[in-house]
Amino acid sequence: MIIKKAFGTQCRTLFIRTLRTMKASLPLLLTLLLATACVRHHQPIRLQGEAQGTYYNIAYCDSLQRNLQPQIDSLLHDFDTTASLWVENSIIRKANRHEATALSAHFVDLLRLSLQMEDYTHGAFNCKIGSLVNLYGFGFKNRDDITDRQVDSLLALIRHGECRIDDTHTTPRLFLSQGIELDFNAIAQGYVVDLLARMFNQLGIHNYLIDVGGEVIARGCKPDGSSWTVGIERPAKDKYSPQEIETAIQLNDLAVVTSGNYRKYYEHDGIRYSHTIDPATGRPVSHSLLSVSVVSHQAWYADAMATAFMVMGLEKSLQFIHDHPDNPDIQAVFFIYDDHGTYNTHATPEFQKLIK
Ligand code: AMP
Ligand code: MG
Repeated sequence: MIIKKAFGTQCRTLFIRTLRTMKASLPLLLTLLLATACVRHHQPIRLQGEAQGTYYNIAYCDSLQRNLQPQIDSLLHDFDTTASLWVENSIIRKANRHEATALSAHFVDLLRLSLQMEDYTHGAFNCKIGSLVNLYGFGFKNRDDITDRQVDSLLALIRHGECRIDDTHTTPRLFLSQGIELDFNAIAQGYVVDLLARMFNQLGIHNYLIDVGGEVIARGCKPDGSSWTVGIERPAKDKYSPQEIETAIQLNDLAVVTSGNYRKYYEHDGIRYSHTIDPATGRPVSHSLLSVSVVSHQAWYADAMATAFMVMGLEKSLQFIHDHPDNPDIQAVFFIYDDHGTYNTHATPEFQKLIK
């Protein structure tokens, strides 16, 4: 499907909240939690809050009418102490400082999945690029005058340094070469969405929609029996543009995650550099792919794939999907920039079936 659209058509009002930090500036998927009557007597329970420097919106139907906000906040808080780069003493920050720290099961799992995804995506996804992310100023440090030499020496470390977990003993141990910094930002938000979904399942709740900073998973259906509906944001012209919906898709037992370069980037000499780093070059990606939304059964996988596709660009991504016919778990829509302030969309056939 190829649709040609101009930027800046009319906007639909959404209840999205833009918070100040990294992912908060990038609420790429906007949930449309349509108000519908719940199973006879109950409305869905709707919870909102802040986590991981961004927002969450959750709706669920529970015949016991439990308020799960304390459990949700506690899960999100615990997860931040494992994987957040914004929490000074999180496990990932300690690991990057080469401080001794007990590795949580989620940390071990995130690293294992990340290394698997690095192989699977032929290196497009790489959780070891933290030092390059910082060098370019997308982390904490200010961007300095970056030299090729700096980039190349970090890249050599990332390629040839050690990064592995020995979990053959009761206490897992991380082996990380000096100079390599881990960054789980491209997978962690999807991963935590899966954790929340698992928590709901374990509590016997099977109809819910979970949105953490635009990474969404939906299970079951709305109280009237219809599917949960999620809006996919149209790529904005720049980081100051208002959010607009391109299309709405129906999700049933699926997650959808978006990566894009139109809210987090910097410009230099008229060229826009994205917050996504191409591990092949060590440089921010700069090509015509504006954003990609991936639908999959697991949010962590959709999250990692969306980032990998942003690195690959459209042609290589389509080739990748073509080369993995055994994996029906990659449905995607790509937004591609053209030279005249307009963009095209390209959706895989399975993704098109979800469009409402
Ligand atoms: P996402 O929004 O999920 O695409 O994640 C983007 C974030 O992941 C960036 O802000 C970086 O912190 C990190 N990142 C950048 N490039 C890569 C890459 N090639 N592989 C894995 N993580 C990356
Ligand atoms: Mg990602």
